[in-house]
Amino acid sequence: MCLFAGGPLLAADREDFADMLQRADAVKSVDPAEFARLIDQLQAQPDALSGQQREHLQYLHAWRLVYTGEYAAAIPMLESLADQASDPTLQFRASVTATNVQVLATRYEGAFLQLNKLLNKLPEVTDKDARLQGMSVAADLYVLVGEYDLGIHYAEQVVKENARGRGVCRGEQIRLDTLCKTKRIKADAPAIPAAIDACLQQGESLAANGIRMTHARLLLREHRIDEAISLLERHYGEMEQTRYPRGVSEWESLLAQAYQQRGAGVNAQRMALRAVEHSVKDQFTQPLVGAYRVLFEESEKQGDIGSAIGYLKKSAAADKAYLDDVTARQLAYERVKSNTLTTKSQLEALNQENKLLQLQRELDGKAAETSRLYIALLLLVLVFIALWAYRTKRSQLHFMKLSQEDSLTGIANRPRFIQLAETVLEAARKSQQQASVVLCDLDHFKAINDRFGHAAGDHVLRQAVIACQGHLRVSDIFGRVGGEEFGIVLPGCGLEDAKQRAERLRVALSAIEPQYDGVRCSVSGSFGVTSTEESGYELRQLLAHADAALYRAKAAGRDRVMPYDGETVDAERPDPIDDELRNVGHA
Ligand code: GH3
Ligand code: MG
Ligand code: MG
Repeated sequence: MCLFAGGPLLAADREDFADMLQRADAVKSVDPAEFARLIDQLQAQPDALSGQQREHLQYLHAWRLVYTGEYAAAIPMLESLADQASDPTLQFRASVTATNVQVLATRYEGAFLQLNKLLNKLPEVTDKDARLQGMSVAADLYVLVGEYDLGIHYAEQVVKENARGRGVCRGEQIRLDTLCKTKRIKADAPAIPAAIDACLQQGESLAANGIRMTHARLLLREHRIDEAISLLERHYGEMEQTRYPRGVSEWESLLAQAYQQRGAGVNAQRMALRAVEHSVKDQFTQPLVGAYRVLFEESEKQGDIGSAIGYLKKSAAADKAYLDDVTARQLAYERVKSNTLTTKSQLEALNQENKLLQLQRELDGKAAETSRLYIALLLLVLVFIALWAYRTKRSQLHFMKLSQEDSLTGIANRPRFIQLAETVLEAARKSQQQASVVLCDLDHFKAINDRFGHAAGDHVLRQAVIACQGHLRVSDIFGRVGGEEFGIVLPGCGLEDAKQRAERLRVALSAIEPQYDGVRCSVSGSFGVTSTEESGYELRQLLAHADAALYRAKAAGRDRVMPYDGETVDAERPDPIDDELRNVGHA
């Protein structure tokens, strides 16, 4: 109704009111007296204000209540403005303040609910200053509940937008503190002095000192105690001038802990007492816990057990209250988060369900494909392993064969012959069965080599072996024990039998008459035979006796079989197998 009564005058007043509101807003945190005066004046004539001005006034009024600690009265006013104010920027500012106050009042659930609203509005807010406030609160709150990356994200955004040149200081303060908390920064990081400078340029002494505390904490962490003490002492006066009790108390607690680490007990105690004195009543913070801790330890050192116990109790109580606060924050955050998620998910559920089903189908397909791939891969690996094992085994067998076989004739080589012969003789000894040993040496073999060449000699050796093999049983042991000398063990044969069988071998040898390069060369062999009855079961003895018999066959004109005649073995005669026996032993 007044609108029509005195239009022009009212318009002029309104301009004044707008001006007063602007001024009140500007001085609210720096000049409390002027702020109070302006608010009182405006409140005296509520009807003269426009609707929007009334809302602005209401916001400033709530702000004053916050300042005087009347949180309970301020919160509903701010929340209602946040929901209903006609100016979106004012809505947003109210929302920011409501969030802040609820943190101060430890009403964390309310704070997080408000934070959600605030962040939803953020994209539409163009007022740079309001955005800075909003994002700073978001960053602070996220850090408070351990969502460090989110906190850093908003802090970086504050730095980036750098509203009125204040963003760098405010954002960096949060970011550096978070990096310190998460141990992702060193005391010498150049960002620290840069941020302090940015704050000082803006006259933000409180923020600059906040960053200095972070710096001091980092120095202490790196055991650079003297540097930390010097930093904290140098700017202590500056910090006190901010008259921000919580910050001053935190500073003093940090300095007390630094003194204590340096071993300056008296200073530590003095500072810790100040920290306790300046701490905000009924607020339990980590610095307070730290201060009590220092006091307890120093009293204990001095043997003042009474005081020590008192401080220990206080430290424990403060610690518990602090942890309760941390838990409360965390719980509130989780509750709001899950509620928000529930609401959101209910809205999106139907949409998502379809997508999920489709995704599930795709996933099932993919999973099947993946399993198939795994199986194929596994099979491939198995095949590879089998192949590898087979090849390894084959080459092992190949090498074993090579190491046991005479390469020219394919029969057992000398070591293998000895090994087999000993096994057979041992078995015969155990079953008290007879066995015989035959040694055969080709006659005048050197002459064959000389006449027809070495290759012809090789050919004759192979032919001789083939001829003998035709007259041997599977159980007989046949080996090449020297150049043109062969050993044969005949299990189950007595001397007479063995003589007859050696005779057959001799006939077979002289029958081969191998041809080489069209030239026929005659072959014969001399044989020495003995048996276990004559010589016992020791291979060494059997061979020595067979060799003695062979010597006799040679001496008697060659191409004949001679049994061992019981004579003692000529010690002069070298035993071709003796060395080998010595090496291999009874393996
Ligand atoms: P004896 O009747 O007294 O046994 O006379 P021998 O010539 O057979 O005996 P000697 O021990 O004098 O010569 C054996 C020859 O056998 C000497 C050597 O060159 C030859 N010899 C040994 N091993 C091989 C071989 O693998 N291949 C060929 N071609 N000759 C061999
Ligand atoms: Mg010989
Ligand atoms: Mg010979």
